[in-house]
Amino acid sequence: MTTSRRGLRVVVIGGGVGGLCLAQGLRKAGLGVSVYERDESVRGRNQGYRLHISPEGERALRECLPERAQALLTATANSRYGYGMAIYDEHLTAQPGPEITDPRAGAADKVDAVDRVTLRRVLLAGLDDAVHFGKRFTRHEQRPDGTVVAHFTDGTTATGDVLIAADGGNSVLRRAVGVQAEPRDLGVRTIFGRIPLVPELRRELPEVLQDRFTWVIGSDGPKLGLMPMAFRTRPAEAAGKLWPGLDLPDSDDYFMSVFSMHRTETGLPDEEFLAMEGERLWRFVQDRTTGWHPALRTVLRYADVAETFPVAVRATAPIELWEPGAVIPIGDAVHAMPPSGGVGANTAVRDAATLTRALLAADRGECSIAEASKRYQAEMFEYATEATATSLQVAKWSLKRIDFDESVLAGKP
Ligand SMILES: Cc1cc2nc3c(=O)[nH]c(=O)nc-3n(C[C@H](O)[C@H](O)[C@H](O)COP(=O)(O)OP(=O)(O)OC[C@H]3O[C@@H](n4cnc5c(N)ncnc54)[C@H](O)[C@@H]3O)c2cc1C
Repeated sequence: MTTSRRGLRVVVIGGGVGGLCLAQGLRKAGLGVSVYERDESVRGRNQGYRLHISPEGERALRECLPERAQALLTATANSRYGYGMAIYDEHLTAQPGPEITDPRAGAADKVDAVDRVTLRRVLLAGLDDAVHFGKRFTRHEQRPDGTVVAHFTDGTTATGDVLIAADGGNSVLRRAVGVQAEPRDLGVRTIFGRIPLVPELRRELPEVLQDRFTWVIGSDGPKLGLMPMAFRTRPAEAAGKLWPGLDLPDSDDYFMSVFSMHRTETGLPDEEFLAMEGERLWRFVQDRTTGWHPALRTVLRYADVAETFPVAVRATAPIELWEPGAVIPIGDAVHAMPPSGGVGANTAVRDAATLTRALLAADRGECSIAEASKRYQAEMFEYATEATATSLQVAKWSLKRIDFDESVLAGKP
């Protein structure tokens, strides 16, 4: 671990979107950082395939990433998202919907959607010496000298001045700062899929399904989203040009599909629905869409069956505050959001940028670590509460039925 001005050493638990972006930001700012991730490798788990990146998320990523990594992200971003969202019923009859605007609409170098695997590799780029895989955090202890020690299942430890809980929605570490609330189940069950945009499928697609974010509202319950990921430059080619030697797995263009319904509409006990895998999940989707427009049925036929998984959609609301100190939660550990708003990862990277600024001030001796934690907390609470409200509104509009009483959002601590 390298050290900086005051030599602040930051230990991050969790090498997901938030933890890695924070590590990039801290390193760019000259602080010492090390990341501990339970996964054995970079490959990660089921969290979807394509991520929408908001203007705020893009700004935060650019703030944290070195220039070469930014260039890589720009080169591999989605090239076909400037068309807004098209809404249909299951017969592909256009439906009214909200106008979606993006101040970056015409910008040629905007990053408004990325492939999740590519993003993770870009976030890892240059951090080889700082990220430790196969390290499952179990507990921490605060020493009298102010340092914090993280313990891992393999018996090893890591010591720092600050310990970051970037361990996601099921965070173990958030409880250590007194954040007790688990994300709430919104009652929505979603099947995520990846549908390669192979030439045969492109040829069969009607104009209305080409290159657009399509949302289909089935009259009998299910909703289907098709989100295109069309790389500006294929990842391996972009890495070859911009970062030779960087391992960036190649990928073809694809649709990320999301097939959602209320828990009570699956016709299955929850445990059974959530335990389903590939083949069975796609049969489930096919069975629920027998009367749908043939073009939609065609798209579904091209699904990559193995790359399919079910999710119970959850949200943290309201966001709980904590006593500011040396343990600081970021991302889903403190504010999980439904994927429908496409804001969870964006908020996690905003946390990374905000916390980097606050810890840099502490490193320069301008404030204490507790004061830095407090500054970050105050800023985060504002934008994350707004993002949670947005994601819940989008969930309500797009899914029609969610188990959520909005009045809890007003319960600002
Ligand atoms: C299917 C799906 C689609 C989504 N789509 C979007 C989207 O389009 N746009 C958007 O902005 N957001 C989206 N989100 C939300 C987004 O993925 C999350 O908000 C974001 O990943 C949160 O980042 P994080 O770093 O807090 O947590 P994560 O990315 O979940 O990372 C947490 C990390 O901590 C590790 N970890 C956990 N426990 C331990 C432990 N004990 N020890 C060590 N490591 C540990 C995990 O392995 C993981 O790598 C989506 C979420 C899902 C599930």
